Amino acid sequence: MKGKMKAQVFYEGEKMKLEDVPIPEISAVDVLVRVKRVGICGSDISYYYGLSPVGTSSGKGPIVLGHEFTGEVVEAGTIPKSLSLFVPGDRVVVNPVQFCNACYACAEGKTHLCEKLSVPGVTTDGGFAQYCVSKYTGLFKLPDDVSYAAGAFTEPLACVVNAIKKMELRPGDFVAIFGPGSMGMMMIQMCKAVGAGKVALIGATNDWRLEQGKKFGADYLFNNTSKNSKYYVPDLKKAIADVSKGRLADRALVPTSANIAFEQAVEIVGNCGIVIHFGLPNEDDAFKIPALSFHTMDKEIRSAWLAPLAWPTAIRVIEEGLVKVEELITGTYPLSETEKAIRNLKENPGNQLKVQIAVE
Ligand SMILES: [Zn+2]
Ligand SMILES: [Zn+2]
Repeated sequence: MKGKMKAQVFYEGEKMKLEDVPIPEISAVDVLVRVKRVGICGSDISYYYGLSPVGTSSGKGPIVLGHEFTGEVVEAGTIPKSLSLFVPGDRVVVNPVQFCNACYACAEGKTHLCEKLSVPGVTTDGGFAQYCVSKYTGLFKLPDDVSYAAGAFTEPLACVVNAIKKMELRPGDFVAIFGPGSMGMMMIQMCKAVGAGKVALIGATNDWRLEQGKKFGADYLFNNTSKNSKYYVPDLKKAIADVSKGRLADRALVPTSANIAFEQAVEIVGNCGIVIHFGLPNEDDAFKIPALSFHTMDKEIRSAWLAPLAWPTAIRVIEEGLVKVEELITGTYPLSETEKAIRNLKENPGNQLKVQIAVE
């Protein structure tokens, strides 16, 4: 499709501009998507501020960020066309982790570790624009009753689905979740949906966010850092022991990237407890955990990175309303205010969960 489009072009730390650029051309394996909704991810904030390098060879722009998005198919390349897979007008969500399906990792089903990964919004131009190119193998059709806004949660929710799978939750398990952001809120709901018993939400800063956890099903709220929090507990392990009949937590999920939270999570799981590391760490982070109790209590730590093979479940979970995603949206901005939305998330995170860009 020829013509111009509006795109938020990111150059380097704190430099992003709304520009008129050519509508991207598609190759045989691609589909051109007219973008509708884009979620702002924590990693978009890191890229924008230059805290993490983007996935280009230079680690810098120019690149269009945004990888959590939905839209409408406007043009299909020759291969998806010949397979009758996508036609203009299809409502779709883009899985940004686009693997090759031909390398060793892909053949083993470890598609998230594909050697030829391409990621719109990280390695190639993404969703903060009117149009975006996706490989046809990265597209999923949105069910009719799932809105573009809800569909844009599929990517983060798929990561949650993967984490829950790796956690091996058993019915009735006591789960501790560290990090009252939108990920934490989705985790509470997923844990409850698959049979968790009690869920404790642990935060370090802000009561408003912790209290949102109640709304999504958390049974206990704890803050073990800020003494002026209503939910302050000086000894988290004791607080968890008190509400779990001394058994401590069976499972712990750590969606925050704060290293200290992960170390605490290992501390507050009981015998044979499993802890899932989920929040993306900083480059120099290293864990320090007491080795003897870790060993003799037979604990396990596992990471949950991206969402291999979890997309169909994530879409189904949204479709069935098992996780209420639209209630997590605390702000919607037009494409022209993408930068403002990102800055506001960084500077004023207190009463925000998920923020989206609505593209016209
Ligand atoms: Zn993301
Ligand atoms: Zn591959």
